[in-house]
Parts: sequence; C-alpha cells; structure tokens
Amino acid sequence: MAEEAKTVQALKADGEQETRMVIMAHPDDSEFTVAGTVARWVKEGWRLVYVICTDGSRGSNDPGMTPERIAIVRHAEQQEAARILGVQEVVFLAYEDGTLEPTLELRRDLTRLIRRYKPDVVICADPTRYFHRNLYVNHPDHRAAGEAALYAIFPSAVTRFIFPELLGEGLEPHKVQEIYLSGTLEPDTWVDITDTVELKVAALRAHRSQVDPEYAATRTRQWNGELGRKYGVPFAEEFRRIVLR
Ligand SMILES: [Zn+2]
Repeated sequence: MAEEAKTVQALKADGEQETRMVIMAHPDDSEFTVAGTVARWVKEGWRLVYVICTDGSRGSNDPGMTPERIAIVRHAEQQEAARILGVQEVVFLAYEDGTLEPTLELRRDLTRLIRRYKPDVVICADPTRYFHRNLYVNHPDHRAAGEAALYAIFPSAVTRFIFPELLGEGLEPHKVQEIYLSGTLEPDTWVDITDTVELKVAALRAHRSQVDPEYAATRTRQWNGELGRKYGVPFAEEFRRIVLR
C-alpha cells in the first residue's frame, strides 16, 4: 500500500523558501495531473517553478488556427493557470510541440534550470508509461520530457563535469533530494488534495483552448475522487517517489 507524502519544512534555516519544480512537456500537463499537489505545496510555503518543454504549437486541430497563434494562446493560458495555483514562475523552453525527443540539448537545458533554481523535489512524468488503461496512448512528448528530466536530475545536475559549459555560467552542481513521478503504473506515495482540488479545477479551466470547463470539473473530481477512495480521503493524487540517497 502506498504511503502518504510527509509534510516537511518549506523554509530553510535562514528563513528562505525552498523551491520545488515541475517539469512537463506541454502547457496543461501539470493541471491535468499534479496541480492539486502543486497548490498544496504552495499553501505549505514552497516556492513552485514550472518548466514547460514545448511551445504547445500543435494543440489545435482547427483549420482556422495557426501553430503560431495557438502557441501564444497556450502560453497565456499556462501563465493564468500558474497564477491561480500560486506557482511563482513558469519557464518555457519552447521546443517544438509534438516531436519532443529526450536529446542531450533538452537534458542540458533542464540541467541548467535545476542548477539555477536548486529544487529539493522535482515532479516529472514517468517515462516508462506507454498506455493509460486500454484507452489512451501516452503522448511521446510526455515520455521524452520525463526521461530528459530524470537524467538531468541524475547524473547531470549533480555531476560537476557533465555539461562543463554550465560551470562557465556560474552554475554549480545541485543535488535534487526526491523525484515524484506522475502518471505512473507503480504508485507508492499519495498526496491528500482535498483542500486544493477546486484550485486544480480552476487552473485546468484556464486552458480554455484545450478543455471544456464542464469536462475539466467532472474529470478532475471523478479521477481524483477515485484516487481519494483508494487512500481513504475525498481527493488524492498519486506518484512514484524516488528518494536519491
Ligand atoms: Zn500533454
């Protein structure tokens, strides 16, 4: 049985806020999956930073839309969702949506951000997940972002002479303590999001170009309600937690 994630101190000894980072492929991925946990961590005092790997430019099948325009729309929607949740910063890496690969270039970009923001915990997608039930093929961008994020955390961010050019930018090695994998088939940790599920709904609704407001509410309450029943609380999110020792 999975364990409830422990609430720990969000402030360093000197009173400075600790940072947590969410790395996802697309604008809206966090809101579909982990935004209840994000909002809870914000309430607990963590500084949250989002990293969105792609530009979201393939997120429309409307013949009257263009990739450039939908990218701008989705950029604004992600900023609005972050504002609702209390996420302090959103970094857009703007790789082309739909064809993301776990390249060394992406790994270097993520390593740079991990060394710059020094998160103690990073949430990313489980790159081993190919299917969701028998209903959905996992988008390859999700797996690519998850894989690049994992290898940026370890070994790249923590190993001095991997991407030595980052040292030239003044970015010293940083060790992430824990990874929370979302969308995993092997959950071992859950977070009670009962107090933040409606913030998650509101943040998901900010992605107006991607999701119907009614569906956003029904999907979130149903899905996270189901997970809540599994763990004996009204609403939950679940993860596989990697503790790096
Ligand atoms: Zn996505």
